[in-house]
Amino acid sequence: MEAPTIGGVRIPRGDGRTVRLPRGATLTDFADKIDANPGSLVQALIGLGEMATATQSLSDDTLMLLGSELNYSVEVVSPEDEDRELLESFNLEFGEDEGGDEALEQRPPVVTVMGHVDHGKTKLLDAIRHTNQVAREAGGITQHIGAYQIQADIDGQDRAITFIDTPGHEAFTAMRARGAKVTDIAVLVVAADDGVKPQTIEALNHAQAANVPIVVAVNKVDKEGADPTKVRGQLTEYGLVAEDFGGDTMFVDVSAKAQINIHELLEAVVLTADASLDLRANPDQDAQGVAIEAHLDKGRGPVATVLVQRGTLKHGDSIVIGEAHGRVRAMLDENGDPVDEALPSRPVQVLGLTAVPDAGDTFLVVSEDRIARQIANIRQARERNAELAARRGRRTLEDILQGLEKGETGTLNLIIKGDVSGSVEALEDALLKLDVGDEVDLRVIHRGVGAITQNDVNLATVDNAIIIGFNVRTAERVAELAEREGVDIRYHSVIYAAIDEVEQALKGMLKPVYEEAELGKAEVREVFRSSKAGNIAGSLVRSGVIRRNAKARLIRDGVVVADNLTIDSLKRFKDDATEVKEGYECGIGLGSFNDIKVDDVIETFEMREKPR
Ligand code: GDP
Repeated sequence: MEAPTIGGVRIPRGDGRTVRLPRGATLTDFADKIDANPGSLVQALIGLGEMATATQSLSDDTLMLLGSELNYSVEVVSPEDEDRELLESFNLEFGEDEGGDEALEQRPPVVTVMGHVDHGKTKLLDAIRHTNQVAREAGGITQHIGAYQIQADIDGQDRAITFIDTPGHEAFTAMRARGAKVTDIAVLVVAADDGVKPQTIEALNHAQAANVPIVVAVNKVDKEGADPTKVRGQLTEYGLVAEDFGGDTMFVDVSAKAQINIHELLEAVVLTADASLDLRANPDQDAQGVAIEAHLDKGRGPVATVLVQRGTLKHGDSIVIGEAHGRVRAMLDENGDPVDEALPSRPVQVLGLTAVPDAGDTFLVVSEDRIARQIANIRQARERNAELAARRGRRTLEDILQGLEKGETGTLNLIIKGDVSGSVEALEDALLKLDVGDEVDLRVIHRGVGAITQNDVNLATVDNAIIIGFNVRTAERVAELAEREGVDIRYHSVIYAAIDEVEQALKGMLKPVYEEAELGKAEVREVFRSSKAGNIAGSLVRSGVIRRNAKARLIRDGVVVADNLTIDSLKRFKDDATEVKEGYECGIGLGSFNDIKVDDVIETFEMREKPR
């Protein structure tokens, strides 16, 4: 078959087969897949009225449009799917335990400690670790590797608990942003002398958004002015109701400093895990898990702390972790002691990698070094492409609204940050009161006081949210991150202006609503029977106008007899008319509808777009 040409350039014509392209692919990528010259695709796109260079990444729509023009069925693949397929091509799968239910064994809970700054997260993590250290033989030198595991005697049973030792919500959200579900339970630390604070709420939002059960540690009860009951009351407002208040959240009054009730807190964690989670994993398979922390050590090279989620990680295993790979040369526990194998929920430091992975990267043990290397290399190449594409693929408020228009999503997620809590609350209240109809759901997924942080941007990335900064700006280097991640930040200093922007944007994108507008009424004076045109109503226009092709209904004795009619023909004497005004006579034909009687009223109307 002769290839068609556009502008003198031969355009390869497809055979209808499916072409899979990564999100943000370029014309060059497309050309590669179909063995064509990128220049010819540039031309083909121009033929469709769009301009793009060969190396510019394109929207899903453009790729699909071009595909159908060239007779290919284009499928745009998300990065997650792409990675899943990459692993599949090596017969690997991440995230599922091998074997059936009987292969699963209980694993310890993985806990993240969250809360407002200075409420004692670090101190509490130290206290928990310390209780354990006293209990065991004085071991090696205590090291902070980003996570540790302790043993506690709960109801006469020796139970292990893993703590992620990177306080601050950043780690938690960053991992969630990367799709890694690491935390099983969140311990929310609230200082009893200070009560619920903005970051307490932030932590709560994060944990709830991730669907992680919460245990509340009411800390600093040793201090004068500590009011643990008040903390319980305050948290009730956020849906965290203490057991002694009739709810089902466990609250434990602790003092990290005076080492009060630390054991009770551990007990609450285990009880919560047992009550609401089924924490099991298959220990007898190749290990898989997540990187918690990683750095480059001068003497030892890349060092990563990983959390094993399933399987057993062993010395000598071939491993691929994000874009890094290698062989487990040595494993160390939180005390710096070497370990030979790590079971599910066990954090260990791994040495022997070729590069430093990112926190949140997943790892898999594979059968050969070669496979690990190949997967890592392909991921590296993809990451480079994705980075280039991401710079162009920004998601602005307008994009999201356009998406809503196409029915992609019915929710506009907002994050509100302000200078004082009063204005944040006022803004949130006002926004939630906006009447935007049923089609759109406006959700404030997070609000807080202070600068826009990395955490806010991460959260916006995960939940596709817009950030509104009210009298605040981004924290250091956060603007760059937002830029890179394509998160839209809107700055305002007048509440009404902020509300107005959101309202206008939402209104602009809502589908038009039509309402009926009456055009005119005519009274039937006489009915003419015509064999050709059916019955014709000889009428007098009583009000407004009767217009040909307008919609009509027939009313008899005040009752609608027929709806959904059309003024099919309209005549003034013998001549066709397009419109007849009030006070004039005319002949009206209603198409195939013939049940017309003298004194009937013909009402005509049109559908008009209703201003919002
Ligand atoms: P973080 O910012 O949440 O990690 O808080 P830190 O663990 O750094 O603690 C903040 C301050 O509170 C430090 O000066 C701690 O010594 C103090 N602190 C932490 N826990 C307690 C406690 O239980 N009682 C008292 N009195 N002080 C505490």
